[in-house]
Amino acid sequence: SRTQHQFKLVLLGESAVGKSSLVLRFVKDQFDDYRESTIGAAFLTQTVTLDDNTVVKFEIWDTAGQERYKARAPMYYRNANCAVVVYDITQTASLEKAKTWIRELQRQADPSIIIALCGNKTDLEARRQVTKEEAQKYAEEEGLMWSETSAKSGEGVADIFISIARKLPKN
Ligand code: GDP
Ligand code: MG
Repeated sequence: SRTQHQFKLVLLGESAVGKSSLVLRFVKDQFDDYRESTIGAAFLTQTVTLDDNTVVKFEIWDTAGQERYKARAPMYYRNANCAVVVYDITQTASLEKAKTWIRELQRQADPSIIIALCGNKTDLEARRQVTKEEAQKYAEEEGLMWSETSAKSGEGVADIFISIARKLPKN
């Protein structure tokens, strides 16, 4: 029989790294060069079909990255099954910010939370500041999933959600 599993996913990361764009690509397969920044948080859902019998429904909380909303983040990650922490491969500082979010999740979120570190904007390869090697090494040390994406081209976006869907416990 066909079973639908429901999971709560939260997106975290510095402002302008492309969190909302990743969600828009995943949910509507669209991209917008002039997105308005998220106020507070946005809620969207999308399903992933893993096989004939397994459908995973994601309840996605796309948070605002701005400092003034930071105090509200625990509301979104508290009951989350998974977190996608995003940095921009053209901005070294955004990886440092991602590491701060990951440390907070490791201390405050549910210990079973699945954390995926995501380097976005691979279409801007010529402006790359964060190497794949350094990000991957950090992710390995911390036991995180890691991948790179371009919300603009769509490269790697569905893969992240499918990989997370596979990893989530289904019983
Ligand atoms: P958020 O603040 O993390 O939600 O970031 P947004 O999704 O609002 O994106 C911030 C800016 O980066 C917008 O101008 C987007 O069009 C742009 N952007 C997002 N993802 C990509 C990407 O993969 N490639 C490029 N070139 N630009 C992107
Ligand atoms: Mg946003």
